[in-house]
Amino acid sequence: MAGNKTFTMIKPDAVGAGNIGAIIKMIEEAGFSIISMKYTRLSGERAGQFYAVHRERPFYEDLCSYMSSGPIVAMILEKDNAVEDFRNLIGATNPAEAAEGTIRKLFATSIEANAVHGSDSDDNAQIEGSFFFSEIEKF
Ligand code: UDP
Ligand code: MG
Repeated sequence: MAGNKTFTMIKPDAVGAGNIGAIIKMIEEAGFSIISMKYTRLSGERAGQFYAVHRERPFYEDLCSYMSSGPIVAMILEKDNAVEDFRNLIGATNPAEAAEGTIRKLFATSIEANAVHGSDSDDNAQIEGSFFFSEIEKF
């Protein structure tokens, strides 16, 4: 059975463009509850750890410097079928391929600076949420 939690970040491009509020509004209107939230910043090293699964990919170094270039908003979200429903809400990785009305279609500026992260599985939602929040911070 699908889990009811996912993890997201509002990435530096969207924070810098002043889109935190608009993105959170879309998340809440789609039926997700925010159960943990943190405005913070990743060092290059922490970004590298978060995206370690991509370390052999050609975009890895650029991705890590981009993700550490400014503040982010990390959140744990709750909803039935959270992982799949949130991936549908954000749209494809490349905003040029993202469906109309998705967060990435509306706010992303490139395949790298694509406004938001969304976990791709229940296991990764757990791992990624724990990367930012201790047990006591998870409601
Ligand atoms: N990314 C990139 N170039 C690519 C593919 C991905 O810069 O060709 C970045 C982009 O910010 C993306 C992140 O790396 O969100 C992680 O890639 P993944 O394939 O996991 O995409 P996602 O799960 O975020 O849609
Ligand atoms: Mg991914």
